[in-house]
Order: sequence, then structure tokens, then C-alpha cells
Amino acid sequence: MADSVTGACLCGAVSFRVTPPTLFCAHCHCSMCRRNHGASYVTWFGIARDRLAFEAGEDVLVRHRSSEHGTRSFCGRCGSSLFCESTRQPDHVDVVLASLDGPIDRAPAMHVYFDSRADWTDVRDELPRLGGASGVEPLPGAQPEPRPGVCVGHVALAVPDIEKTGAFFAALGMRELVRGADFGLYELRGGTHLLLFPGGPPAPGTPASFDLMVDDLDAAHARFAALGLAPGEIERERTPHHRSFTLAAPSGHVLVVQSSHVSGKPV
Ligand SMILES: [Zn+2]
Ligand SMILES: [Zn+2]
Repeated sequence: MADSVTGACLCGAVSFRVTPPTLFCAHCHCSMCRRNHGASYVTWFGIARDRLAFEAGEDVLVRHRSSEHGTRSFCGRCGSSLFCESTRQPDHVDVVLASLDGPIDRAPAMHVYFDSRADWTDVRDELPRLGGASGVEPLPGAQPEPRPGVCVGHVALAVPDIEKTGAFFAALGMRELVRGADFGLYELRGGTHLLLFPGGPPAPGTPASFDLMVDDLDAAHARFAALGLAPGEIERERTPHHRSFTLAAPSGHVLVVQSSHVSGKPV
């Protein structure tokens, strides 16, 4: 990243340069920003006043006193909104991120005045959503759900001995919900249910119709070995990006157990 970043209004009459570090970067949903920009919300960053230097057109800027403490300024020729200042923080200037020609030292980190947002604003990111009188208070109930919106509902396996196979899956760590002679129901992390229903023994070596994933493959391998389940050797790249081993289920299916390979975000 360059040491400093240039910015300008739409017509170019006003141009300036900012030199990070910046102080914050946030999406503002307040009604003044919305109306001022004709936009759903406006992304601002803050910077110390002495890190903002005009290259041209400071005299073209028009300052509008938008509240008792706030002043917004825009280009007097093209109307582009560029800056917001507050007497409460006289050493800081807020700058419209979209006016810059390049990136700054941080990404937008939050939504502020989120409870003032327009009805038609559809926010789907995972940033904190703040609001209230100051615009930056936590909003109970408004925080994003960090997990994906859907999970696998049911997987099913036809097995010749439901009770024995069910006991095997319970030993692996599934939660037993129904254990019967002709129907078994087992719950996995994330809410997926495994249905066991009657069926003939599979041909030798038939893979199960699903695989399993664990956070710690080595610990799982050791635990399953201690349970007498005779896990196979841990192999790399049986499936790309995963380490895995196999288990022989009592039903005759071969089950692959994989190391988890997720984004690092909640699942
Ligand atoms: Zn302009
Ligand atoms: Zn605002």
C-alpha cells in the first residue's frame, strides 16, 4: 500500500491526499448520510486532521452545518460529498471512502446507526451492527447470524442390522434419538440427522453414502482405536485438502472420516 492515498470529487476540482494510519472505517446508516448522498448508506473513515492535505480546490469546498456539532463539506461545482467534521472531535476529519483513488490501511469494520437504516437496505455481511443515540451502541438482537443459513437435513443408509450399526455411530459421537429394530435416528453436529433403515448387506467395500468430518483427526483416530473400531491408517489427500482414515461399519459399509476443512468461520 502506498504511504499516502489521493482522493477527489467527481469533477476533480477538489483533490486531496490522506496519509494513514486511519482511525476507523465504518458504514453509516444515519438518515443524514442517506439523504446527503442519495445512497442506502455511506462508508467513512476517520483520519487525524494533520494527515489530510489539499492538493487543489479547498476554496471550492462548500461547508454545510448539518447539525449542532457537525459540518459536512462538498464540492461547490459537482456536489460530491467529501468530508464530515464535528466540533466534538476537532482534531479528526471523516472522509468518504469512495472518494479515494486507492485502498486505505483497513476495511470497513462495523455498521453504525444501523437502527436508522432504510427499510430497503439489505445487509448480509457479518460486521457488528451498532446504533442507538450515539450510533455505536450494541443493538441486542440485531447482530448477524455468523453461520451459513442452511445445513444438510438428512442422510440415510440402508443397513442389515440397525441396532448394531446404530450403536457404532453412537460410539463415533452421534447423538442417539431413536434406536429400534427397524429404524434408527442419529443426530450430528449442525443438526443433520442420519436415518438407518433396513436393507441387505452391501457388496464388500461399498462406501457409505456420506463421510464424516472431525476437528481433530488424530484424536479421533486414537479414540476409535481405543474403542476397538480398528481405524485404517491416516492418509493424506485421499480427498484433496483432507487427511482421512477409514472405518469398517458393522453394516459392511466403508466409512471415511476426514479432518475438517472449513473456512475458519463459524459453521
Ligand atoms: Zn467537484
Ligand atoms: Zn451518517
